[in-house]
Amino acid sequence: MSNSDAQATDYYPVLIIGSGPAGFTAALYTARANLTPLVLEGNQPGGQLTITTDVENFPGFPEGILGPQLMDDMRKQVQRFGAQVKFEAAMEVDLSKRPFTVKTDANETYTAGSVIIATGATAKLLGLPSESHLMGYGVSACATCDGFFFKEKEVVIVGGGDSALEEAIFLTKYAPKVTVIHRRGELRASKIMQDRAMANDKIEFLWHHQVVDVLGSREDGVHGVRVRDVRSGEERDFPTQGMFVAIGHKPNTELFESVLTRDPVGYLQVQEPTTYTDVPGVFACGDAVDPTYRQAVTAAGSGCKAAIDAERWLEAQD
Ligand code: NAP
Repeated sequence: MSNSDAQATDYYPVLIIGSGPAGFTAALYTARANLTPLVLEGNQPGGQLTITTDVENFPGFPEGILGPQLMDDMRKQVQRFGAQVKFEAAMEVDLSKRPFTVKTDANETYTAGSVIIATGATAKLLGLPSESHLMGYGVSACATCDGFFFKEKEVVIVGGGDSALEEAIFLTKYAPKVTVIHRRGELRASKIMQDRAMANDKIEFLWHHQVVDVLGSREDGVHGVRVRDVRSGEERDFPTQGMFVAIGHKPNTELFESVLTRDPVGYLQVQEPTTYTDVPGVFACGDAVDPTYRQAVTAAGSGCKAAIDAERWLEAQD
């Protein structure tokens, strides 16, 4: 297909898949470079920050900012410079020839001179049948979305990282008691989060335990979890009215499984310190490539790198 044919059929010089801080920052830079990018927002427009409350570690907001507000502002900022933002999810990509082709869940097909992948990551679950059966009926993977429904209810949260403690602290706004169930005897979370959680008298810890079943029904909700002591193997029922899962995330990269190189966990491999993938013209940034830092600000920074990489690469093609 010639470039002019492509332009007649929804051609974009830069197509960005994903709308978290990485995707929107890539859009901001490419839009300001007059590359009229298209952003496919995906199933969670704004990404993971839209299920957070206060963001206190994004520079420039001395009082903090609400996650959804920050993402709305980023969207408006990129639109101001001419980026197209569509509430569509990429379902199929053909990166084998240029222009690249991306098909979406709205049955649209776009062609693109370059693609920036900023698909982020998704919350992991324990994988119990009762967990999925009761998801939304007393089980949740998002305290900030569902905490409100647990007013005056005692809840547990599974995990020992920053997310688990952040969500535990958030849940104490509603729940009189939050028990953090962790499979080890020490937390993975940062010292500051540990100190905050330990200082909160509504938070208790159940160490060395795994949740092996969620007890309850869709009609009556959750009334307990079955826990196993990982040292003795002993099981017992722990009464609770809700279970939150905060055990980390997995990168959203299935779409690129047979197309791009990923690490064993699924993170896309890029040619550090650039955002080049192994397909020329395809760049990747944000949590989809980052098993280490996974912060909004690092995602935004890598979105900026991807935009500059794409811009220079496109220039070199011309
Ligand atoms: P994480 O650091 O990977 O922690 C996951 C936790 O879940 C670990 O404690 C892990 O246990 C536990 N876990 C994993 N699989 C499990 C399973 N199948 N059953 C029971 N427990 C399981 O993930 P995260 O807390 O989501 O944090 C991810 C990154 O985001 C981190 O870099 C974190 O610092 C950052 N973050 C920062 C903030 C903040 O600064 N405010 C907030 C949230 C997240 P083990 O410890 O035994 O492995």
